[in-house]
Amino acid sequence: MAEFKIAVMEGDGIGPEIVAEGLKVLAEIAAKFNHTFNYEKVYVGGCAIDMFDEPLPQSQVDTILKCDALFFGSVGGPKWDNLPQEKKPETGLLGIRKALGAFANLRPAKVFDELVNASTLKPEVVKGIDILVVRELTGGIYFGQPKGVFEENGKKKGLNTMVYYEDEIRRIVKLAFELAMQRRKKLTSVDKANVLDVSQFWRDIVNDVAQDYPDVEYNHLLVDNAAMQLVRDPKKFDVIVTGNIFGDILSDEASMLTGSIGMLASSSVGGKVGMFEPIHGSAPDIVGLGIANPIAQIESAAMMLKYGLKLDKEAETIEKAVDLVLKMGYRTPDIMSDGTKKVNTTQMGDLIAKAVGDVA
Ligand code: NAD
Repeated sequence: MAEFKIAVMEGDGIGPEIVAEGLKVLAEIAAKFNHTFNYEKVYVGGCAIDMFDEPLPQSQVDTILKCDALFFGSVGGPKWDNLPQEKKPETGLLGIRKALGAFANLRPAKVFDELVNASTLKPEVVKGIDILVVRELTGGIYFGQPKGVFEENGKKKGLNTMVYYEDEIRRIVKLAFELAMQRRKKLTSVDKANVLDVSQFWRDIVNDVAQDYPDVEYNHLLVDNAAMQLVRDPKKFDVIVTGNIFGDILSDEASMLTGSIGMLASSSVGGKVGMFEPIHGSAPDIVGLGIANPIAQIESAAMMLKYGLKLDKEAETIEKAVDLVLKMGYRTPDIMSDGTKKVNTTQMGDLIAKAVGDVA
């Protein structure tokens, strides 16, 4: 029996609809395993702009930092698209990741056997995919200085800078090797060492860290080749470790192998407080229709239990519950196929919460 304080950020768009389902499942876990989850509601992104006129108020950061984990919905939407960059919801998202010091984004891409047909790739290519993309989150080109739009000799230029410090690379690569040790002991580091100096630097450090993990079979891939191999033969990957921008792109690609963006969770860890959220955005096109798939948010709850609160058995219970409900043939519209039973967002949450009771 344990007690935890969890910051809950419902967010924008479908965020509140699916976070409610995640909390429903967590309530069932708390009851079954005799834990107490105390929630603190916080606001980041569009909802924070509406309330506080800024996407990441310091008061919200302070509250989050006093919690054991941050359970995060999604941010953004057309309502805030025309604001200046520093006022946009996505600035709040980048800001909170930075404020937490969460330098590692873990993005699993796993294909559920029941959903092999949901992928646009052939079933024999996707069946059995189980990849973990480990993306560096607080460095690289998204944060490097100088950046901006400048005028030089009467000509305007846009500029971003890819910067990595040695310690930033070492800590993410080490974490990726540790995760590989807990999995199938295979690691691929992705870079662009043929043209970028910062990538060659990254590669040299990977080779050095690898000395401490003789049991892990590792290789390097250039990002263009990695993008190709991911659709050609994705099963050969286990852990992929890469920098911020390459990880951003490759993890979306990896997620699409699985068929639905509504199924996949992510964790941002390594900092003061871990953040756990779906990989998808706020899906403005389906807000309020009751058709959003809550599974990514529910899987985020499982990741929060595993990586944030160290409750492995409880996390596994959620994963088994999701499996069971899919095996029973229930589907939200985004993952429907012939012979399956259509349910809405709330019904899917109810089914998984009930299944937690059945598999625990
Ligand atoms: P999106 O992920 O919100 O939606 C892409 C497509 O996937 C849409 O058709 C949507 O309906 C569908 N989809 C997403 N989640 C779903 C779910 N759970 N169930 C069923 N279908 C789902 O991406 P977008 O449309 O490019 O972005 C919308 C907004 O979200 C933008 O403002 C963007 O900046 C923001 N965004 C936020 C995050 C985040 O909060 N981490 C991530 C990506 C995008």
